[in-house]
Amino acid sequence: MCRTPVSLFARLRAVVTILTATGPLWVTGLSAPRSVNAITSTAPPPAERPGIQELPRTSPLALETSGRAILEFGGRLLDPGGYPATVTGFERYLEDTGVEAVTADEMTRPNHPGIAAKLGYQEFLPPREWWTRGAALALLAQQIEERVSEPVRLRNWWRPADYNRHPGVGGAKGGDHPTAHAIDLDYSSVESRKRAERWLRDLDSRARWLELSLGLGAKSTHIGIGSPHGRREWHYAGWS
Ligand SMILES: [Zn+2]
Repeated sequence: MCRTPVSLFARLRAVVTILTATGPLWVTGLSAPRSVNAITSTAPPPAERPGIQELPRTSPLALETSGRAILEFGGRLLDPGGYPATVTGFERYLEDTGVEAVTADEMTRPNHPGIAAKLGYQEFLPPREWWTRGAALALLAQQIEERVSEPVRLRNWWRPADYNRHPGVGGAKGGDHPTAHAIDLDYSSVESRKRAERWLRDLDSRARWLELSLGLGAKSTHIGIGSPHGRREWHYAGWS
């Protein structure tokens, strides 16, 4: 997932926050991989902006699978209703949640732009009620990218039903994408996919409540969180 100027800015902002808060001794640690806790402790405080509300761990959203997953992955639980319902608003929401490695543009860009345009879509931005699903999946993708140490490409998140069932797209009927419960990731190598898969299996065993759905290929994985179709696993040609 390529870093855009926006996510680089978010990273710089986080660094400035660290330096301000703790002094230059932390400089030697900046090149080390960020821990989950670092996301929580270094991101700027969105609650200082009007209309942005950080939700307590006792809020109803924190009890839903996507909200709980955001907290599990070290993110901030925010009310998406405080952001404009645009790709830019979604980008701001992701950044405030603690997402740095995935952009809103990557998450909302159609994999088949020609088909999307014919159906009247420029981008795939789901209703704000579903943004927490995207944030949880983006935080998960971020953790995977840190672990495989190679670029990971996010190919699909939400696919509207009419696009999903188009023959040129070939989305599974009753799959996880029409409700924005899953992403597809492409890896640079089979070894990276295997490393990601080992980590996902470990995550699945210690957090069954995530109800992970795993579609495994040679250099790709479909990953769903809290899908209405439940916890499950399937394999594509080339997987071993
Ligand atoms: Zn998929």
